[in-house]
Amino acid sequence: MIKKMTCISCPIGCELTVFVNGEIKVEGNRCPRGLEYAKNEVTNPKRILTISVKVEDGVMELVSAKTDKPVPKKMLHEIIEYIKGLKIKAPVKRGDIIVNDILSTGANLVATRTVLKKD
Ligand code: SF4
Repeated sequence: MIKKMTCISCPIGCELTVFVNGEIKVEGNRCPRGLEYAKNEVTNPKRILTISVKVEDGVMELVSAKTDKPVPKKMLHEIIEYIKGLKIKAPVKRGDIIVNDILSTGANLVATRTVLKKD
């Protein structure tokens, strides 16, 4: 099997050709990170999740958040459903950990902005 993909590990964005035939070989990468990226994409693709979380008693009803590490793509739906059920209390500061080790992925969900408490 041959797959084409773009390495997103740095802004250069090398176009990779990945040969999967028992072992994984890669062409088009300018550095070893491209090989690592392609192997992960083929065996266990991961993504940073960006999402909003409900806030109680805040000046805004939602706070933006993202995972501090990529999480398995196959778990994205499950993680999103879990986060939809959350409601955190204001105030929330940018950088606060909202969920530690979300669904045992090893990634934390971190607030990316501040939401103050309502007066
Ligand atoms: S292969 Fe290396 S140089 Fe190319 S996009 Fe990936 S990290 Fe950047």
